[in-house]
Amino acid sequence: MAEHISTEKLLADAKAEYDKLQEKLKAGPLTPKDRMAIPQQQMPAQEPKTRARLMTEVCTGYSKEMAVVEANRCLQCKNMPCVSGCPVNVQIPQFIEQIAKGEFKKAVDIIKETSLLPAICGRVCPQEKQCQGQCTVGKTYKSAEKAVSIGRLERFVADWERENNQVTMPVIASKSGKKVAVIGSGPAGLTVAADCARAGHEVTVFEAFHKAGGVMMYGIPEFRLPKAIVQNEVENLKKMGVKFEQNFLVGRTNTLDQILTERGFDAAFVGTGAGLPKFMNIPGENLIGVFSANEYLTRANLMKGYDKEHADTPIYDAKHVVVCGAGNVAMDAARMAFRLGAEQVDIVYRRTRNEMPARIEEIAHAEEEGVNFRFLENPVEVLGNEEGKVVGVRCLSYELGEPDASGRRSPVAIKGSEHDIECDAMIVALGNGSNPLLIKTTPGLNADAKGHITVDEKQATSHAKVWAGGDIVLGAATVILAMGEGRKAAAGINEYLAK
Ligand code: FAD
Ligand code: SF4
Ligand code: SF4
Repeated sequence: MAEHISTEKLLADAKAEYDKLQEKLKAGPLTPKDRMAIPQQQMPAQEPKTRARLMTEVCTGYSKEMAVVEANRCLQCKNMPCVSGCPVNVQIPQFIEQIAKGEFKKAVDIIKETSLLPAICGRVCPQEKQCQGQCTVGKTYKSAEKAVSIGRLERFVADWERENNQVTMPVIASKSGKKVAVIGSGPAGLTVAADCARAGHEVTVFEAFHKAGGVMMYGIPEFRLPKAIVQNEVENLKKMGVKFEQNFLVGRTNTLDQILTERGFDAAFVGTGAGLPKFMNIPGENLIGVFSANEYLTRANLMKGYDKEHADTPIYDAKHVVVCGAGNVAMDAARMAFRLGAEQVDIVYRRTRNEMPARIEEIAHAEEEGVNFRFLENPVEVLGNEEGKVVGVRCLSYELGEPDASGRRSPVAIKGSEHDIECDAMIVALGNGSNPLLIKTTPGLNADAKGHITVDEKQATSHAKVWAGGDIVLGAATVILAMGEGRKAAAGINEYLAK
């Protein structure tokens, strides 16, 4: 585990590095060798043991000096491999070049040509598998962790723009007289709302929850993605004229067809995400103290369950929590458990660290905060007491066999390896499926066997006037992929409405 370095030291080191860089630049442009010699700028973060009890954001962001120094590590590769690693092809070398020159507004404007939500993507994109995974600097060091910190730089300029009131509202075309309904207010829906509003259409977003933002509000915790940043994006959309109808469950409050016919919408976008938690289907899963990660995180994030004195839905008190799974959702649930008062948190995963799908930074942060990883184990039963409350989980031990369809080595149970872990709550974080409500209540809207809405290359569905994108099409994926699909769908809707 990497040693935690205090923010004061990181800032001081960056300042010294910045001064050195300015001196060097006076002598002429940097050579690739000079750039490779610049030390990577670490992200300042709160001290692990203190922050594990706080909801405030763990990573506190680059200073100006750090951003400029880090940007100068970029080799400005002509073939731009990083761009092909980004699902929406952000013009990475171009925006980084502007940061290197201290032109932060120009940098963020370049990003916004392709990405609507840089402050969010800079924080939550799995960069090591995307843009940074392709970076020449990382490849030279044979480690994506050593790549130019594209995500941190993206976050820096987006935060700089917001905090310095430099946000420029997009130009909106004259009113088209057409109405677009957006179902779901996650990154896919918000992107469609922005792009269709820009084209002059009247846009209304229908959201089942009382707050807009989708998983960015109810799933990803405050300590990783401050909710004020998401709400800022929602407010910007309102300023662009987008209307929001919250507590509106399409398929119950109104069907999609009612929205299109009775309410006179000319086109609709479905971005309802993948919010249906998967369970393990093992004995004892109905005991008191077993939660889906979705429920656990929603209670904490959206319903402020941690505020035990005031919340209507307080969180179950648990001192020892076992979390099953190894993706971002599992890391979030485990880290949240500490913040809700747990003294011990174990992540149980049937493979090993190498196969964990979570972002490297989230795994590192969870470990620093004290989460204990138990590899090659998997629950087969949840154990309860006479009151029906969880008192432990029975697990089997595993070893790794041949690679499966995902390319990862598949876990093979070891006979006779049953053993128990004492705990008083278990959180199941094994991914999410799509909620069938909208598909069931919309005749003519086709989905595949997994319940994902089927679309063509422009995100058009089998239902006339309806487009879809994000997790409801892809299965549980990422913010940037949802945003990318929203962009494509909005282009399709705008083209259709222009006819
Ligand atoms: P969502 O964000 O799921 O939004 C869908 C919205 O539709 C929700 O607000 C829902 O209430 C609403 N809705 C659903 N049905 C209806 C209906 N019938 N009527 C009206 N409204 C409806 N991705 C990353 O890139 N990085 C991460 O670090 C990351 N961490 C994650 C952590 C957690 C805990 C979770 C759960 C997911 C995480 N993801 C992460 C995945 C990412 O958040 C999703 O891929 C992304 O939010 C999908 O966007 P979306 O717009 O398709 O749907
Ligand atoms: Fe990288 Fe995500 Fe930004 Fe693309 S949007 S450049 S993947 S951080
Ligand atoms: Fe810069 Fe890395 Fe992209 Fe090359 S691959 S342009 S070094 S960010």
